[in-house]
Amino acid sequence: MTKYIFVTGGVTSSLGKGIIAASLAKLLQARGYKVTIQKFDPYINIDPGTLNPYEHGECYVTEDGAETDLDLGHYERFLNVPTSQANNVTTGRIYQHVIQQEREGAYLGKTVQVIPHITDEIKRRMQLLGESGEYDIIITELGGTVGDIESLPFVEAVRQLRWELGANNSLVIHLTLVPYLAAAGELKTKPTQHSVKTLLEYGVQPDILVCRTEHKLSQEIRKKLAQFCNVNINAVVESIDASTIYDVPLLMLKENLDKTALTKLKLSNKNEPDLENWKNFLGKLKNPTSEVCIALVGKYVELPDAYKSITEGFIHAGATNECKVKVSYIAAESVTKENVAEKLKGMDGVLVAPGFGERGLDGKLNAIKYVRENNIPFFGICLGMQCSVIEFGRNVLGLKDANSFEMDANTSNPVINLMEEQKNITNMGGTMRLGAYDCEIKKGTKAFAIYGKTKISERHRHRYEFNNDYLKQYEAAGMIASGFNPETGLVEIVELKNHPFFVAGQFHPELKSTVANPHPLFVSFVAAALANKKSK
Ligand code: GLN
Repeated sequence: MTKYIFVTGGVTSSLGKGIIAASLAKLLQARGYKVTIQKFDPYINIDPGTLNPYEHGECYVTEDGAETDLDLGHYERFLNVPTSQANNVTTGRIYQHVIQQEREGAYLGKTVQVIPHITDEIKRRMQLLGESGEYDIIITELGGTVGDIESLPFVEAVRQLRWELGANNSLVIHLTLVPYLAAAGELKTKPTQHSVKTLLEYGVQPDILVCRTEHKLSQEIRKKLAQFCNVNINAVVESIDASTIYDVPLLMLKENLDKTALTKLKLSNKNEPDLENWKNFLGKLKNPTSEVCIALVGKYVELPDAYKSITEGFIHAGATNECKVKVSYIAAESVTKENVAEKLKGMDGVLVAPGFGERGLDGKLNAIKYVRENNIPFFGICLGMQCSVIEFGRNVLGLKDANSFEMDANTSNPVINLMEEQKNITNMGGTMRLGAYDCEIKKGTKAFAIYGKTKISERHRHRYEFNNDYLKQYEAAGMIASGFNPETGLVEIVELKNHPFFVAGQFHPELKSTVANPHPLFVSFVAAALANKKSK
């Protein structure tokens, strides 16, 4: 039977529920359990695909093309197991389904209500992944903070589900904040007491408290939290600020979070967790023998969460190279022809980031021209790849108005174009080229040297594509297509022949980089940056 763990959040948002859920899942997986994590988000968008990155950080795309919350990225990076559309559900999706059912007459004669119709649909979705029998344990993270109006139906669904699942088959972990008041020199338990009280009002008694704190929890504080929140003292878990999120599984292991959870679920904790590879990774991450500086040029740089997976990709690739990767986030708009040398001074490699819309385009082109001409390693992702094509078109091929159809629909040289099948689409949600696509790599190219094989698969999220009418011209001038889609012939990777490292992909390699499998493009790019630094 599949067992269920629910993770709720109290006091404030941004406590790192995703990391705690992923860390616990990692420990359970390391003990031999089959685990997956899903996230239920209380907002009304059908998915975060239509959200500005400033609102909600990066939109993470799964193999099956779902546009999801960035926490799913943590789940995959920690567990090295792919997630899917079923792992991320929003209020919008729940209501969409119920309303559709209502129109079809599924509830004919009945008043359709939050309870039971919405909560039933939430419960159904919560158990969907469990039906396959593939998992021993499913961890469900509830977005938002307990007490929010919009999370109420989710908490109610958890209450009902716990009752239906019966004793020992589920547990609730409440992640909360224990703030430190410097003036009083004390850790404060009251906010936690209040948020547990709120949960209790809704009929949910948490089994385990995970307490985010800047200082160690004394025995006395633990006892107080346990006593006033009705939990066992062993179930008060300290989650102290860590220097890297990848430390958190080991910190949770020290606090016995996995053991406590398994005991409550009446599952065996005999197998010690096998964390050797994880510790190996951490060892390399924390003991770099060198350092490189990478510029990330993008338009959402004020919020690094907008580039979460890229940042993590560099952490994985850095560890592989035993090299600390210092990423500088550079606002694309600020890069001009005049200041580009100054802006990129000291950078061993430059990445131009994914993005949408015209803002910052010129800055990206300025950065790309500079690194192309100065032999600085370059890595382009999605819009970054498209920009490298525009730059090459304008400055090498002399196509002065080379552009992407996205930026200028009237250009006479749409080197990046809209595909026929995209032309009649008016809906903005879920209509891009999304999810995993095969890519064939040409032998003898840099891409082949990096991947070491000809057949790969990568995840996409974009509307526009390289315009193959220009391919011959580009290849003759030295920008070659080294990867293409075997079915459609669409160009997926471009690279420069006469450059130490100039590689750009139409896909998002960052979405597939995990601790267990750092992405080869990131690993090679960091190695190229390192080589560039050494040659200076
Ligand atoms: N805006 C571009 C497109 O839609 C690139 C998207 C991206 O970088 N993810 O094709």
